[in-house]
Amino acid sequence: MTHVFHRYPKMTLPVAAAGEGIELIDSKGKRYLDACGGAAVSCLGHGHPRVLAAIHKQVDELAYAHTSFFTTAVAEQLADELSASAPGDLNHVYFLSGGSEAVEAALKLARQYHVENGQKQRRHFIARRQSYHGNTLGALAIGGNAWRREAFLPLLTPSHHVAPCYAYREQLSGESDAQYVQRLADELEAKILELGADEVAAFVAETVVGATAGAVPPVGDYFKKIRAVCDKYGVLLILDEVMSGMGRTGHLYACAEDGIAPDILVIAKGLGAGYQPIGAMIASDRIYNTVVGGSGFFQHGHTYIGHATACAAALAVQQTIREEQLLLNVQARGEQLRARLREVFANYPNVGDVRGRGLFVGVELVAERDSKQPLDPARRTHSRVKSEAMQRGLLVYPMGGTVDGRQGDHILIAPPFISTAADIDAMVERLVPAVDAALA
Ligand code: PLP
Repeated sequence: MTHVFHRYPKMTLPVAAAGEGIELIDSKGKRYLDACGGAAVSCLGHGHPRVLAAIHKQVDELAYAHTSFFTTAVAEQLADELSASAPGDLNHVYFLSGGSEAVEAALKLARQYHVENGQKQRRHFIARRQSYHGNTLGALAIGGNAWRREAFLPLLTPSHHVAPCYAYREQLSGESDAQYVQRLADELEAKILELGADEVAAFVAETVVGATAGAVPPVGDYFKKIRAVCDKYGVLLILDEVMSGMGRTGHLYACAEDGIAPDILVIAKGLGAGYQPIGAMIASDRIYNTVVGGSGFFQHGHTYIGHATACAAALAVQQTIREEQLLLNVQARGEQLRARLREVFANYPNVGDVRGRGLFVGVELVAERDSKQPLDPARRTHSRVKSEAMQRGLLVYPMGGTVDGRQGDHILIAPPFISTAADIDAMVERLVPAVDAALA
């Protein structure tokens, strides 16, 4: 009898006992290649000596001081590190303890910005279908993940959704990339006009869609077009890089590859790489100056924001990524991973698409490749892949509901940035029989 209220109480879980590099080890000594870092979290693998040393040092000096009384040297240093590399004028870092908290803060900051700016009528948030922004009520309300929202609908504030940029399923045959992204930008513009040109607070999107649809990157100039529509109507752009940020795509900030900067950027998982719970919201000069120059402060806060030990861990993670030039490895290993997956699954009628950026890779499973018909959801192929992979000592992050929240299956693969070419080959080698067994 366990007294832990587990995420899935009916599952019998192995006990994680240790971690070494790209492997997790359970209490029976079984080793697992961690090809997903949980949910794209453990970007430096496990037991990284530099991060451990930074945490130990910080705890010895000072574990925690409340942010209404003090700042700390590590929080200041980490904010300097992040703003120095962030796109545009994203210079103001607000630390939180995870992704959902950071999304909540971003939504509130967007609203407060408009209030301070004399635009109290701006209250609508637009996001995209097939998105995930977190499980707290505000983040769940804007998210477009049907099954996660369903039971809680009466509690969720109204939000509005437009189509994601999901070329594999939604780009029409004969439609060019330019035509497709224009159609999506037009849809956003129409939604803004429908809600009231000066009544929309912000548009929220994952730069690369993560858990809900499986590493779906934007096409061509999608975000440039979206940025232009937002600017035309004074709508803020909030990019959620909780999963895709901090180097996962081969760029420290995923949107850098798209040549744009949002007004507010949200990061989490790879920020602290799982060594400590930490997320952040980074605001532009305009947002910060309006709020601080107005009422003087952001009307928000939690007990653990800016936690010194969490900041120390994240600082060590980010310094390691920069000093060891790990993003070059992310780019090279990502190319290798996608190429290998395309090769090994070339003749699989059930593998419809291999996609992603950097070490953020999705494999979409289908019943039949030409029609892209999803597999029968009753088969729960995604969870079979997960357990077959675990049996073979491999951790990947499969999910169902890829197409519309109910139908569709994909496998998300997000290996640590320290993976070698041989590690990537070993991951693919274990994945193939797991997929075979799940589809059998
Ligand atoms: N936003 C995105 C894009 C995510 O992928 C997630 C988590 O998977 C969240 C927000 C929520 O983050 P957390 O689980 O840390 O609250």
